[in-house]
Amino acid sequence: MIVLGVESSCDETGLALVDTETGLLSHALYSQIAMHQEYGGVVPELASRDHIRRALPLLEQVLREAKIDKSAIDAIAYTQGPGLAGALLVGASVACGLGLALGKPMIPIHHLEGHLLSPLLASKPPKFPFISLLVSGGHTQLMRVEGIGQYTLLGETLDDAAGEAFDKSAKLLGLSYPGGPAISRIAESGDPSVYTLPRPMLHSKDFNFSFSGLKTAVLTVVKNHPGELSEQDKANLARAFVDALVDVIVAKCSSAMRHSGLKRLVIAGGVGANTQLRAGLNAAAAKKRFEVYYPELEFCTDNGAMIAFAGAMRLKADPAQAQCDYAFNVRPKWPLAELKAI
Ligand code: ATP
Ligand code: MG
Ligand code: FE
Repeated sequence: MIVLGVESSCDETGLALVDTETGLLSHALYSQIAMHQEYGGVVPELASRDHIRRALPLLEQVLREAKIDKSAIDAIAYTQGPGLAGALLVGASVACGLGLALGKPMIPIHHLEGHLLSPLLASKPPKFPFISLLVSGGHTQLMRVEGIGQYTLLGETLDDAAGEAFDKSAKLLGLSYPGGPAISRIAESGDPSVYTLPRPMLHSKDFNFSFSGLKTAVLTVVKNHPGELSEQDKANLARAFVDALVDVIVAKCSSAMRHSGLKRLVIAGGVGANTQLRAGLNAAAAKKRFEVYYPELEFCTDNGAMIAFAGAMRLKADPAQAQCDYAFNVRPKWPLAELKAI
């Protein structure tokens, strides 16, 4: 069966087609980053309006690339939440309007489940059960995953998410939004011995995180620095930031692997694209003898493929997941724990 996926929870419009038997058929993404860059972050109203402009041309594109007509779509999955209310409403109304017109059933998807299952789109997908590290712009969570919809939260950030810490620290260094890739790039040429930043909650003996203090530590260095930071100073500070953040995440993941007794660690979310984090996790995995899985780079940040794929997995596991219910509602705040197992 062919599932169309529609993602619009933040500043990316993503559409994709997934075949429940053969996998991803096509996907298309429009990122609004350039539009939001001049404001230093996502402007919700601008995001909603742009989703309206992009959704239908992207639909045409994925149909063309998959060489199918829209009548061949069997079900439509869309991001119901969490995310920006207006942005979610655009995707939900496009998806449900299409479903109503075509007489096809709908599968509302939790955005974080989309991220969580995105590594299963890779050529060598991990098998259940596994420990999942979700590191995105809005979340940092460690979970035990037994199957679709069976997610037990082990720990999460008590304040800023890892991606948020990247973005805020990058802003302090005068780098453009989104700061994750930018700070990671300059950190490559940073000297790790110049600054040492705190490793928050490294020894807290639980699976929680806290990153707001790390951002404040970056701010303190910037403020106390006589005159402007040179490019090399910025690189050194970026390196100290990345080293501290990676140390904490790697330690918590290793400890979750040890406690769970599981052998597979699966990464998801935008920060999962980070080179230094991947190197740190790979080194720990080799030493502690567990395997680590990542999504393809293009599926770390928001995309339609992960939503279509989550829809396809749900549909395959239980066809009753898809229902001809077009009276959509969105859930801007929606704890993952409320999802029902199938
Ligand atoms: P959520 O899914 O929690 O609602 P989101 O959808 O905004 O949040 P993602 O799209 O998964 O989050 O990821 C975006 C975040 O990932 C941004 O904070 C961005 O800075 C960060 N990011 C992207 N690439 C990298 C990278 N190479 N290194 C570090 N951070 C990165
Ligand atoms: Mg985004
Ligand atoms: Fe996301």
